[in-house]
This record gives sequence, structure tokens and C-alpha cells, in this order.
Amino acid sequence: MKLLIIEDESKIGEYLKQGLAEAGFMVDLAQNGLDGHHQAMTESYDLIILDIMLPDINGWTILKSLREAGHNLPVLFLTARDTVDDRVRGLELGADDYLVKPFAFSELLARVRTLLRRGASPANETTLRAADLELDLLKRRVTRAGQRIQLTAKEFALLELLLRRRGEVLPRSLIASQVWDMNFDSNTNVIDVAIRRLRAKIDENFEPRLIHTLRGMGYMLDVPDDG
Ligand code: CA
Repeated sequence: MKLLIIEDESKIGEYLKQGLAEAGFMVDLAQNGLDGHHQAMTESYDLIILDIMLPDINGWTILKSLREAGHNLPVLFLTARDTVDDRVRGLELGADDYLVKPFAFSELLARVRTLLRRGASPANETTLRAADLELDLLKRRVTRAGQRIQLTAKEFALLELLLRRRGEVLPRSLIASQVWDMNFDSNTNVIDVAIRRLRAKIDENFEPRLIHTLRGMGYMLDVPDDG
């Protein structure tokens, strides 16, 4: 699942980003209102964490604009001002929940999970499958043939990406940017190592093999045709 944080205080933003990434989410961080608004309007996210007090355009404006444009994704707003007015205004403008700063990370994580669960409908599938492999986005759980498989947060994010783009060849550069937030020029050996580890966990003792290497092109997850 992919989250967007719009927060101008870089310390808080980076802290949230790191914590949520460690919890297995893909996370983008926008450090001002205009960038955040642009990303929220043009990219696809499952949830937005929105700071209200931003130096350029404030959180209220962003929220209002998103709702007017028909973006119904859950929005959790962060406010430093613990006033009833703020909360009422946020909820009226279409926020789904709020947290008053300072807050504990565990509290934020719990709220995020609740909002994602609430937003989950059959049209918004929370379990990704290929053959007998299942990845539960909300419980952060992976099973193959009913056996629980323990993955690291990065392996989970990698598998989620492969499952979402099933049947597509994913170049290393795309995997690097989506899962590791790094450029293609970076040392991409890390991707091959992660794929090897993931394969050992989800493919080694099972049939059919799901992760395929396309030499010189990248990786793909797919279920081979029986015929
Ligand atoms: Ca702020």
C-alpha cells in the first residue's frame, strides 16, 4: 500500500516516512503544500497523512481541493493546535481522522491501519494472489499453500509490487525507485540479492515457480500457463 505524507517539518516527515516504511508501506514525502497537492492529484495513493500548517498552501485547501476533484481516499490530518474548531473543520472538509501533535508513532500506525481497513471494499482488494500465494495488505501477512512466510519489510514491499504488476516485466530501475527510493545509478545489486532471498522464501519449496528473471530486462511475477 502506498501512502503520501505532506509535512513541512522535515524531522517529523522523515521520522514518519521511515517508521511507515519499516512497517512495510511504500511512502512518499512531500515537504510543502504545493508539491504535496500535485502528488496527491496526479499519483495513486491509498492514504494521505496531511499536516495542516504548511508554509505555502495549507492542509485545509489541499483537502478541499482533493475532495472536490473526487479523490475519496482516506485522509488523516495532523494538527498542532488542539482546538475543537480545527477538528470540526477538518472533519467537515472531508478528513477521516486527525491526530494532535505531538503523538506517539504507534498511535499513528494504529490510526492508519484502521482507516485503510475501513476503506477496504471488494473493489479495493486487500489480498493479492498468484496461484496459492497470498499477500494480505492489512495484516501484512504472506502465505504460500497455506504456510505462513516471514518477510522483511523490503521483501514484503517487493513482493507487493511484483503482485500488483503481475505479468509485467519490471526493470531494476523501476524496482529500485519504487521499493528502495533510489536511482538507477545506485548500486542495484541490492535488488538481485533481495529477489534471491524472496525467491528462497516463496518459490524454493513450492510449485509452480512464480518469480521469473528476464535476462537484461528485469523481473516478473507470473503463473505459468498449464497448457
Ligand atoms: Ca507544519
